[in-house]
Amino acid sequence: MVIHTSGHTRTYEMEALLKLFRPAEKFAFSAEDSPPADGELISAVLLPEGTGMNRLICRTALGGQMRESEAVLPETVQGNDLDREISGLLYPQLCALTGMEPAWGMLTGIRPVNLMRKFAERRGSLKQAMADFREIWHVSGGKTLLAAGILSVQKPILDAAPPNGIGLYVSIPFCPTRCRYCSFVSNSVSQMKQRLLPEYLTRLHTEMQMTAELICRHHLQIDTVYVGGGTPTVLSAEELENLLLRIAELLRQCGSPALREYTVEAGRPDTITEEKLLCMRRFGVNRISVNPQSFQDAVLEAAGRPHTAQDAVEKYGLAQKAGFENINMDLIAGLPCDTAAGFRESIERAVSLHPASITVHCLALKKAADFYQNLPMPDAETVSEMVAYAEDALTAAGYRPYYLYRQKNMAANLENVGYALPGFESAYNIMMMDDSQTILGVGAGAATKVIGGQRGIERLTECKYPNDYLERFDELMTQKTARLEELL
Ligand code: SF4
Repeated sequence: MVIHTSGHTRTYEMEALLKLFRPAEKFAFSAEDSPPADGELISAVLLPEGTGMNRLICRTALGGQMRESEAVLPETVQGNDLDREISGLLYPQLCALTGMEPAWGMLTGIRPVNLMRKFAERRGSLKQAMADFREIWHVSGGKTLLAAGILSVQKPILDAAPPNGIGLYVSIPFCPTRCRYCSFVSNSVSQMKQRLLPEYLTRLHTEMQMTAELICRHHLQIDTVYVGGGTPTVLSAEELENLLLRIAELLRQCGSPALREYTVEAGRPDTITEEKLLCMRRFGVNRISVNPQSFQDAVLEAAGRPHTAQDAVEKYGLAQKAGFENINMDLIAGLPCDTAAGFRESIERAVSLHPASITVHCLALKKAADFYQNLPMPDAETVSEMVAYAEDALTAAGYRPYYLYRQKNMAANLENVGYALPGFESAYNIMMMDDSQTILGVGAGAATKVIGGQRGIERLTECKYPNDYLERFDELMTQKTARLEELL
């Protein structure tokens, strides 16, 4: 399929829009004066009209049918505003020709809740923002209500953030083995441990020390700590203890009062031991994730997760016995070999364990994953059914959706939603997704973002891979420190 433009270069948003309807397809681009005469395409042509006006002509040709519409715009309409005008003409054409109506309408961004917050601020009321979602962006009634409900749950948590508060993210980008669906930069410890992990931890401690100095110099207050990955509990009990000790030293050095939240992802049940759980408790970790992903053993096996559903149940019980009250469980809708009935059972099993929060992800079809070959995949309708069931069952069980994000190429074009029992919403997740707090990331793959300043949000991504991190450590640290000194 061809994406054709003339008179402008706004192809990015056109491609994102088209992917809502054709998620797996690769597109060709054309910038001829006129759209190609045949074949499937979307086209947006901008022609000067005189007297400061432009004519925008949009066309969609699909399955032997064609739709065309046009609008006259002031020639000052550019950038995002022009994107919106183009999408506004193309979206109804795509819906009509495909018979699809994406639940998030023509919103292509990953943070629809943030967008609703911005609309509410700009338009003066949540009611008006909800009307814009429905009428301008064609978002379904259900998703509009979901976003509005999340906004109200988030408000007290956002309001409680200290003015100079930051989140600290510590990255352990290693896993015991790689799950087949995962495109995250995680390195199997069995391959890498001997070679990289000891040196990685040494360098990480050095970076943490440098970060502590920055935090002190700029009078920042650590509000939340999140140790993620990868799977941080892939570390041996001794390595984990050493890491948590260094984090405790950093917190002491920065004079941070009690943290709002201290999370360690203990995602893979096969890495959890009583010794590690007790160690985390000793160091004040008050939130962990134990991630079954599915309670169907056949689905777990197809996913390359070397644990059973029962292992997840047992490790969850072990975490409770160690004193953890705030335990999150992740489940994934749309895994190969899963069915609507199987996913329902997974949700019911998770609810019966009564964890503080349950995060429902939709499988993201990313390039790096080799997951899909020769495996039966639930279709888009089934994934939508799974997600709808999760929403109904979890809200009926007292969980409230509290954060949401979308990813590119997500199954059924849906979203990831965190549900929590009241009072157990993750402050880190909310602050991070809302872009309302500076996050200082340490380690390979950790993203740092600084809020405020001239550009609003400045993102620094160190480097993805542990071997690059080790090889270029001094150079990376010099660059990062200099940039953060400017930004903070
Ligand atoms: S445990 Fe998580 S990060 Fe690690 S390979 Fe599996 S899905 Fe990826």
